[in-house]
Amino acid sequence: MTNITALCVYCGSAVGNDPAHRAAAEALGSAMARRRIRLVYGGGRVGLMGVVADAVLKGGGQVTGIIPEHLERREVGHREISELRVVSSMHERKRIMSEIADGFVVLPGGLGTLDETLEIVTWRQLGLHDKPIVIADIGGYWRPLAALVDAVIAGGFARPDARKLFAVADSIDGVFAALAAAPAPRVTVDAERL
Ligand code: AMP
Repeated sequence: MTNITALCVYCGSAVGNDPAHRAAAEALGSAMARRRIRLVYGGGRVGLMGVVADAVLKGGGQVTGIIPEHLERREVGHREISELRVVSSMHERKRIMSEIADGFVVLPGGLGTLDETLEIVTWRQLGLHDKPIVIADIGGYWRPLAALVDAVIAGGFARPDARKLFAVADSIDGVFAALAAAPAPRVTVDAERL
């Protein structure tokens, strides 16, 4: 079983149209604080990113945000979090987020969230890490993503076991159940390769 002390959460810089998505971000943040799991995220105050960070802080938990200089204004760097690291590029942000977390949770989000999700899944496919990835499919929001991966496999462009690179949960309780069920990683991350 993976020992999770820090979780990286990928999610929207908008809150989206479905109130269930905001509620899920709040539930995830509160549960992380209760379980003493540090939040690692993109460092912004906006959208679901801000909602999850605020919920962790409200519950007395720890939050590390990593934001590139050029996005600090747009995503409004969250000044109340435990630690805000300002880095020079998107790549550095994503590399550090992946390095310091023990696992990844994907809440609803937009194109940036998709980019981050596919990157962490493909890094696992390449054997660059072996940390658990759980997609929080709240209200079926990410069903098209799972269907796209199935289509890629059916098309012969990914191995059939590619679907096992990530778990899908339909609730926040389900996210923690999937994390608890994940085997301990067998790969030591070599940051030089990311
Ligand atoms: P979004 O899901 O588009 O609201 O973005 C969520 C987060 O993903 C934001 O913090 C974005 O800055 C970040 N992000 C990461 N990689 C990218 C990328 N390649 N393009 C756009 N946004 C990105």
